Amino acid sequence: MPNRRPKHSTSPADAATRRAVKPVVCYPPDTLPEPQNLGPATPAGPITTHLAQPRDATTFRAKAGQTFRITSVDGPQVGDLNLWNAADLTERFFSGKTRALHGTHVTTGDVLWSNLPHLRAMATVTHDSLDWYGIDEYGGAVHDVIGTRCDPYTNALLHSGDQYHHCCHSNLTRALADETGLPLDGAELLVHDVLNVFMCTGFTRDTGQYFMKASPVRPGDYLEFRAEIDLLGALSACPGGDCGAEHSSDTTRCYPLRVEVFDTTHTAAHVTPFPNAYDRTHGR
Ligand SMILES: [Zn+2]
Repeated sequence: MPNRRPKHSTSPADAATRRAVKPVVCYPPDTLPEPQNLGPATPAGPITTHLAQPRDATTFRAKAGQTFRITSVDGPQVGDLNLWNAADLTERFFSGKTRALHGTHVTTGDVLWSNLPHLRAMATVTHDSLDWYGIDEYGGAVHDVIGTRCDPYTNALLHSGDQYHHCCHSNLTRALADETGLPLDGAELLVHDVLNVFMCTGFTRDTGQYFMKASPVRPGDYLEFRAEIDLLGALSACPGGDCGAEHSSDTTRCYPLRVEVFDTTHTAAHVTPFPNAYDRTHGR
Protein backbone atom coordinates (compact mmCIF):
# COMPACT_ATOMS: atom_id res chain seq x y z
CA MET A 1 0.00 0.00 0.00
CA PRO A 2 1.44 3.41 -0.91
CA ASN A 3 2.32 5.71 1.98
CA ARG A 4 -0.19 8.53 1.60
CA ARG A 5 1.14 10.41 4.60
CA PRO A 6 4.92 10.80 4.18
CA LYS A 7 6.77 12.45 7.06
CA HIS A 8 9.36 15.14 6.27
CA SER A 9 10.08 16.46 9.76
CA THR A 10 12.65 15.20 12.27
CA SER A 11 11.68 14.81 15.92
CA PRO A 12 12.90 17.57 18.25
CA ALA A 13 15.16 16.56 21.16
CA ASP A 14 12.30 16.94 23.64
CA ALA A 15 9.73 14.99 21.58
CA ALA A 16 9.18 12.42 24.33
CA THR A 17 8.62 15.14 26.92
CA ARG A 18 6.07 16.88 24.73
CA ARG A 19 4.23 13.63 24.10
CA ALA A 20 4.16 12.81 27.80
CA VAL A 21 2.00 15.84 28.69
CA LYS A 22 -1.18 14.56 30.33
CA PRO A 23 -4.49 15.30 28.54
CA VAL A 24 -7.38 17.18 30.10
CA VAL A 25 -11.05 16.72 29.17
CA CYS A 26 -12.09 19.65 26.95
CA TYR A 27 -15.64 20.06 28.23
CA PRO A 28 -16.28 18.45 31.62
CA PRO A 29 -20.10 18.21 31.58
CA ASP A 30 -20.42 18.50 35.38
CA THR A 31 -22.18 21.89 35.23
CA LEU A 32 -24.94 20.63 32.92
CA PRO A 33 -28.31 19.88 34.52
CA GLU A 34 -28.65 16.37 35.93
CA PRO A 35 -30.68 14.26 33.45
CA GLN A 36 -34.10 13.37 34.85
CA ASN A 37 -36.43 10.37 34.54
CA LEU A 38 -33.94 7.91 33.05
CA GLY A 39 -34.70 4.23 32.52
CA PRO A 40 -37.05 2.26 30.25
CA ALA A 41 -40.21 4.27 29.58
CA THR A 42 -43.74 3.00 30.13
CA PRO A 43 -46.24 4.26 27.54
CA ALA A 44 -49.19 6.14 29.05
CA GLY A 45 -51.50 6.26 26.07
CA PRO A 46 -51.52 5.44 22.37
CA ILE A 47 -48.30 4.62 20.52
CA THR A 48 -47.63 6.01 17.04
CA THR A 49 -45.49 3.62 14.99
CA HIS A 50 -43.28 4.34 11.97
CA LEU A 51 -41.16 1.88 10.00
CA ALA A 52 -37.96 2.70 8.14
CA GLN A 53 -37.80 0.13 5.36
CA PRO A 54 -34.38 -1.32 4.42
CA ARG A 55 -32.32 1.24 2.43
CA ASP A 56 -35.01 3.84 3.01
CA ALA A 57 -36.02 6.34 5.69
CA THR A 58 -39.08 7.34 7.66
CA THR A 59 -39.99 10.56 9.42
CA PHE A 60 -41.72 10.99 12.76
CA ARG A 61 -42.82 13.81 15.04
CA ALA A 62 -42.44 13.88 18.80
CA LYS A 63 -43.82 16.62 21.06
CA ALA A 64 -41.67 18.00 23.87
CA GLY A 65 -41.77 15.54 26.74
CA GLN A 66 -42.81 12.55 24.62
CA THR A 67 -40.64 9.46 24.29
CA PHE A 68 -39.41 8.11 20.97
CA ARG A 69 -38.01 4.60 20.83
CA ILE A 70 -35.94 3.14 17.99
CA THR A 71 -36.08 -0.67 17.88
CA SER A 72 -34.23 -3.29 15.87
CA VAL A 73 -36.66 -5.67 14.13
CA ASP A 74 -36.01 -8.81 12.07
CA GLY A 75 -32.19 -8.54 12.06
CA PRO A 76 -29.13 -6.46 12.99
CA GLN A 77 -29.42 -3.04 11.41
CA VAL A 78 -27.83 0.37 11.82
CA GLY A 79 -29.89 3.58 11.66
CA ASP A 80 -28.92 7.15 10.79
CA LEU A 81 -30.90 9.69 12.79
CA ASN A 82 -31.57 13.37 11.99
CA LEU A 83 -33.51 15.70 14.30
CA TRP A 84 -34.95 19.16 13.63
CA ASN A 85 -36.89 21.66 15.70
CA ALA A 86 -40.37 21.00 14.28
CA ALA A 87 -41.10 24.76 14.22
CA ASP A 88 -37.75 25.85 12.67
CA LEU A 89 -35.90 23.35 10.51
CA THR A 90 -32.71 25.47 10.61
CA GLU A 91 -32.32 24.35 14.24
CA ARG A 92 -31.00 20.82 13.97
CA PHE A 93 -28.88 18.19 15.69
CA PHE A 94 -25.20 19.13 16.15
CA SER A 95 -23.24 15.89 16.25
CA GLY A 96 -19.86 17.65 16.60
CA LYS A 97 -20.71 19.49 19.81
CA THR A 98 -22.58 16.48 21.16
CA ARG A 99 -19.35 14.53 20.64
CA ALA A 100 -17.27 17.26 22.30
CA LEU A 101 -19.56 17.35 25.32
CA HIS A 102 -20.29 13.66 25.87
CA GLY A 103 -17.80 11.58 23.88
CA THR A 104 -17.56 9.68 20.61
CA HIS A 105 -20.61 7.53 21.43
CA VAL A 106 -23.77 8.32 23.36
CA THR A 107 -25.73 6.31 25.88
CA THR A 108 -28.25 6.75 28.71
CA GLY A 109 -28.07 10.24 30.25
CA ASP A 110 -26.39 11.91 27.26
CA VAL A 111 -28.09 14.77 25.45
CA LEU A 112 -28.40 15.43 21.72
CA TRP A 113 -27.65 19.17 21.28
CA SER A 114 -28.77 21.56 18.55
CA ASN A 115 -26.56 23.66 16.28
CA LEU A 116 -25.35 27.22 16.86
CA PRO A 117 -26.74 29.75 17.61
CA HIS A 118 -29.28 27.60 19.46
CA LEU A 119 -27.18 25.02 21.34
CA ARG A 120 -29.84 23.59 23.58
CA ALA A 121 -31.03 20.12 24.43
CA MET A 122 -33.10 18.54 21.63
CA ALA A 123 -33.39 15.05 23.10
CA THR A 124 -32.02 13.03 26.01
CA VAL A 125 -31.12 9.34 25.77
CA THR A 126 -33.26 7.80 28.50
CA HIS A 127 -32.56 4.11 27.90
CA ASP A 128 -30.04 2.07 25.89
CA SER A 129 -30.44 -1.72 25.79
CA LEU A 130 -26.85 -1.96 24.49
CA ASP A 131 -25.32 -0.08 27.44
CA TRP A 132 -23.63 -3.34 28.49
CA TYR A 133 -21.28 -3.16 25.45
CA GLY A 134 -18.97 -0.40 26.68
CA ILE A 135 -15.69 0.03 24.77
CA ASP A 136 -14.31 -3.16 23.22
CA GLU A 137 -10.68 -4.23 22.73
CA TYR A 138 -10.47 -2.38 19.39
CA GLY A 139 -11.76 0.87 20.87
CA GLY A 140 -15.19 0.25 19.32
CA ALA A 141 -18.44 1.37 20.95
CA VAL A 142 -22.10 1.73 19.95
CA HIS A 143 -24.24 4.74 18.84
CA ASP A 144 -21.59 7.04 17.44
CA VAL A 145 -21.50 10.74 16.76
CA ILE A 146 -18.23 10.52 14.81
CA GLY A 147 -19.32 9.24 11.42
CA THR A 148 -21.24 11.71 9.30
CA ARG A 149 -23.70 9.64 7.24
CA CYS A 150 -23.05 7.49 4.18
CA ASP A 151 -23.58 9.69 1.13
CA PRO A 152 -23.47 9.38 -2.66
CA TYR A 153 -20.82 12.08 -3.06
CA THR A 154 -18.15 10.27 -1.04
CA ASN A 155 -19.14 7.06 -2.84
CA ALA A 156 -18.68 8.74 -6.24
CA LEU A 157 -15.38 10.23 -5.09
CA LEU A 158 -13.95 6.88 -4.01
CA HIS A 159 -15.49 4.68 -6.73
CA SER A 160 -14.95 6.35 -10.10
CA GLY A 161 -18.16 8.34 -10.14
CA ASP A 162 -20.41 5.40 -9.20
CA GLN A 163 -24.07 6.46 -8.84
CA TYR A 164 -25.72 4.95 -5.77
CA HIS A 165 -29.04 6.41 -4.65
CA HIS A 166 -29.83 4.73 -1.32
CA CYS A 167 -27.13 6.09 0.96
CA CYS A 168 -28.51 7.44 4.24
CA HIS A 169 -27.96 11.00 2.97
CA SER A 170 -30.31 10.37 0.04
CA ASN A 171 -32.80 8.36 2.11
CA LEU A 172 -33.04 11.20 4.64
CA THR A 173 -33.34 13.76 1.84
CA ARG A 174 -36.26 11.94 0.18
CA ALA A 175 -38.02 11.39 3.52
CA LEU A 176 -37.68 15.04 4.54
CA ALA A 177 -38.88 16.21 1.11
CA ASP A 178 -41.92 13.93 1.34
CA GLU A 179 -42.73 15.07 4.89
CA THR A 180 -42.36 18.81 4.29
CA GLY A 181 -43.21 19.27 0.61
CA LEU A 182 -39.79 20.86 0.05
CA PRO A 183 -38.07 20.14 -3.27
CA LEU A 184 -35.30 17.53 -3.05
CA ASP A 185 -32.50 20.09 -3.36
CA GLY A 186 -34.04 22.21 -0.59
CA ALA A 187 -34.53 19.24 1.71
CA GLU A 188 -30.97 18.05 1.04
CA LEU A 189 -29.52 21.24 2.51
CA LEU A 190 -31.31 20.54 5.81
CA VAL A 191 -29.95 17.00 6.15
CA HIS A 192 -27.06 16.95 8.61
CA ASP A 193 -24.54 14.76 10.38
CA VAL A 194 -26.32 11.98 12.20
CA LEU A 195 -26.42 9.95 15.34
CA ASN A 196 -25.45 6.48 14.11
CA VAL A 197 -27.94 4.41 16.08
CA PHE A 198 -26.72 0.86 16.87
CA MET A 199 -23.55 1.38 14.77
CA CYS A 200 -20.32 0.02 16.30
CA THR A 201 -17.36 2.21 15.43
CA GLY A 202 -14.13 3.70 16.65
CA PHE A 203 -10.77 4.99 15.50
CA THR A 204 -7.87 2.65 14.74
CA ARG A 205 -5.18 3.10 17.37
CA ASP A 206 -2.27 3.06 14.88
CA THR A 207 -3.60 5.38 12.15
CA GLY A 208 -6.56 7.12 13.79
CA GLN A 209 -8.87 6.01 10.96
CA TYR A 210 -12.62 5.71 11.39
CA PHE A 211 -13.58 2.03 11.52
CA MET A 212 -16.83 0.11 11.73
CA LYS A 213 -17.55 -3.46 12.75
CA ALA A 214 -20.66 -5.64 12.81
CA SER A 215 -23.15 -4.10 15.22
CA PRO A 216 -23.93 -6.12 18.37
CA VAL A 217 -27.61 -5.08 18.01
CA ARG A 218 -30.18 -7.87 17.87
CA PRO A 219 -33.92 -7.77 17.22
CA GLY A 220 -35.65 -6.31 20.26
CA ASP A 221 -32.77 -4.02 21.22
CA TYR A 222 -33.78 -0.40 21.45
CA LEU A 223 -32.58 3.12 22.11
CA GLU A 224 -35.04 5.45 23.80
CA PHE A 225 -35.12 9.25 23.94
CA ARG A 226 -37.15 11.99 25.53
CA ALA A 227 -37.88 14.84 23.13
CA GLU A 228 -36.83 18.03 24.94
CA ILE A 229 -38.44 20.30 22.30
CA ASP A 230 -41.04 19.62 19.60
CA LEU A 231 -39.15 17.50 17.09
CA LEU A 232 -39.31 16.37 13.51
CA GLY A 233 -37.09 13.32 13.15
CA ALA A 234 -35.94 11.16 10.25
CA LEU A 235 -34.38 7.71 10.51
CA SER A 236 -32.65 5.86 7.66
CA ALA A 237 -32.08 2.10 7.68
CA CYS A 238 -28.49 2.24 6.39
CA PRO A 239 -27.65 0.27 3.21
CA GLY A 240 -24.71 -1.10 5.23
CA GLY A 241 -27.10 -3.28 7.29
CA ASP A 242 -25.14 -4.16 10.45
CA CYS A 243 -22.20 -2.23 8.93
CA GLY A 244 -19.88 -5.22 9.33
CA ALA A 245 -18.58 -5.20 5.76
CA GLU A 246 -19.54 -2.35 3.44
CA HIS A 247 -22.09 0.33 2.77
CA SER A 248 -23.16 2.49 -0.20
CA SER A 249 -24.27 -0.58 -2.13
CA ASP A 250 -27.06 -3.19 -2.33
CA THR A 251 -24.68 -6.00 -1.31
CA THR A 252 -25.40 -6.29 2.41
CA ARG A 253 -28.51 -7.81 4.02
CA CYS A 254 -30.64 -5.01 5.43
CA TYR A 255 -33.58 -4.94 7.84
CA PRO A 256 -36.21 -2.40 8.85
CA LEU A 257 -36.10 -0.22 11.97
CA ARG A 258 -39.15 0.76 14.03
CA VAL A 259 -39.78 4.14 15.63
CA GLU A 260 -42.48 4.47 18.28
CA VAL A 261 -43.63 7.76 19.80
CA PHE A 262 -45.71 7.94 22.97
CA ASP A 263 -46.56 9.86 26.13
CA THR A 264 -45.33 8.82 29.54
CA THR A 265 -46.54 9.90 32.97
CA HIS A 266 -43.84 12.62 32.84
CA THR A 267 -44.88 14.11 29.48
CA ALA A 268 -47.47 16.61 30.76
CA ALA A 269 -45.06 18.10 33.32
CA HIS A 270 -42.19 18.48 30.83
CA VAL A 271 -40.45 21.87 30.74
CA THR A 272 -38.92 22.84 27.37
CA PRO A 273 -35.32 24.06 27.69
CA PHE A 274 -34.77 27.80 27.29
CA PRO A 275 -32.84 29.15 24.31
CA ASN A 276 -29.08 29.41 24.89
CA ALA A 277 -28.01 32.18 27.30
CA TYR A 278 -25.33 33.75 25.04
CA ASP A 279 -26.41 37.27 23.94
CA ARG A 280 -25.05 36.97 20.36
CA THR A 281 -23.32 40.37 20.36
CA HIS A 282 -19.93 38.75 19.57
CA GLY A 283 -17.96 41.53 21.23
CA ARG A 284 -19.50 44.42 19.26
ZN1 LIG B 1 -25.77 4.84 6.02
